[in-house]
Amino acid sequence: MTPVTVFKGKRAAVFGLGGSGLAAAKALLAGGAEIAAWDDGEGARAKAAATGLPLSDLHGIDWRGIDALVLAPGVPLTHPQPHWTVQAAQAHGVPVIGDVELFARQRAAEAPEAPFVAVTGTNGKSTTTALTGHILAAAGRDVQVGGNLGTPILALRPPKVGRYHVIELSSYQIDLMPTLSPSVGIMLNVTPDHLDRHGTMERYAAIKARVPAGAKAAVVGVDDAFGQDMARDLAPSGKRVIAISTRGLVPFGYVAGQSHIYRVDGKDAEEVADLAGINSLRGVHNAQNAMAAFAACAVLGLDDKTIRAGLRSFPGLAHRLEQVGRSGKVLFVNDSKATNADSTARALASFQDIYWIAGGRPKSGGITSLGEYFPRIRKAYLIGEAADDFARTLQDKVACEIVGTLEHAIATAAGEAAQSPAAEPVVLLSPACASFDQFANFEARGDRFRELVRALPGLVP
Ligand code: ADP
Repeated sequence: MTPVTVFKGKRAAVFGLGGSGLAAAKALLAGGAEIAAWDDGEGARAKAAATGLPLSDLHGIDWRGIDALVLAPGVPLTHPQPHWTVQAAQAHGVPVIGDVELFARQRAAEAPEAPFVAVTGTNGKSTTTALTGHILAAAGRDVQVGGNLGTPILALRPPKVGRYHVIELSSYQIDLMPTLSPSVGIMLNVTPDHLDRHGTMERYAAIKARVPAGAKAAVVGVDDAFGQDMARDLAPSGKRVIAISTRGLVPFGYVAGQSHIYRVDGKDAEEVADLAGINSLRGVHNAQNAMAAFAACAVLGLDDKTIRAGLRSFPGLAHRLEQVGRSGKVLFVNDSKATNADSTARALASFQDIYWIAGGRPKSGGITSLGEYFPRIRKAYLIGEAADDFARTLQDKVACEIVGTLEHAIATAAGEAAQSPAAEPVVLLSPACASFDQFANFEARGDRFRELVRALPGLVP
């Protein structure tokens, strides 16, 4: 845990007692702050109370004595409308901040030189965060990895010189961080997402832009117009800005070809890594993530050879193109994290000869955008609420069957893939849908896939 001593003797209201809120409340208490912690949900309150956290109903408090409202990132700050605690805090001039802001202030006070890598972007945050952390750890550094991914930041060990914090930041978390000054700020990409919470695309991109803008050294993905604008706007600042592109768009920085990463310096391009054969980093999207991690680790002083070794030994994250095992020549891949068509496009682009399991609770647009990948799909096995709609989109283009459940899908797909004439048929769960119609979340869906696949006869994990 990172005790928040910068709030010693102060009073904080904490709202939203999920994992990060609970960790923030405990870190504030451990640092000597007085807190009033609350949640709208009875279940969350009961869970918090069971861990020994004292609760106090924020409806009844005098906001004049409060130094900050520490808000969980899932609670609306601005859109669709500010949460009642935000309205109350703002009416009394109380600053509204998040758990990462508490960490940032603690770091500024205790260990301003402690390396802090902040990772954001619409897609690839978790992979890039985990990969950067892995490369540093494999190089023998003292590393703490968390934030939006895994462990809440204040449950990690405290910042100190020589200890690296690699932290994934969602746009909600950035919105709750008035001071944001990481040693390295990675901004991967910006595509439409969560606009219900951020209003417009411009506002969403402006929030992401604060990560490279506040960083000492910035790594910016310039494959989309928003990233290009950020890199351009930062150029006059004189700070180190490293552009990364999968489309050969940079005069200085890194570009990725099919699987090779090049460092570009004006007219010179030097190959620094080859991702071919690294199963955890398949696909162009992962080349972007790998470049970002490469660039960040190079800024932090690792040499190319050490970074390459870290890339090669990266185990990958569960539920993201996770290779579960093989049965004969059939490969089974769990991409349950792909909850929209955009993510599934990355998976379909990463394999040939696909026996595709898709469906669940559909997102708007369905899978109409995936047409260019249909020729790779040998057959689709459709599950959940989206099945009828997806079948209509695939009709006359791709062989498909409505199988209803994941259990049926795996049994049927495994049998049919085994009969395939292809050299490496792939049974791919990449649903392009939310999981909530049949599972608690995408993790539960992916775990079930793994469990069922592992039980197949002849399966080698
Ligand atoms: P995040 O934490 O931002 O959600 P993840 O690393 O968990 O990102 O990846 C989630 C999904 O997003 C992956 O399964 C993949 O389909 C897609 N993805 C990963 N990296 C990228 C990227 N750099 N660009 C576009 N899509 C990506």
